[in-house]
Amino acid sequence: MSTEAAMALVDVIRSKEMDRMLVCAADDCDAVVLDLSRNRSKRYCDTGNCANRAHVAAYRARKAAS
Ligand SMILES: [Zn+2]
Repeated sequence: MSTEAAMALVDVIRSKEMDRMLVCAADDCDAVVLDLSRNRSKRYCDTGNCANRAHVAAYRARKAAS
């Protein structure tokens, strides 16, 4: 874990914002996501390219359905 990430984690614990800790929304990924975005919109981890994979999967599903 990088120093920056560790410091961010300390901030979260200090501010009791543990609800910002969540598990990646991708079906095949269990990475812990630390949502530091202002509007808490983060759903996917940064490590697995999961947001992009989910978008591609959704696109394929839409295409297959039509
Ligand atoms: Zn992920």
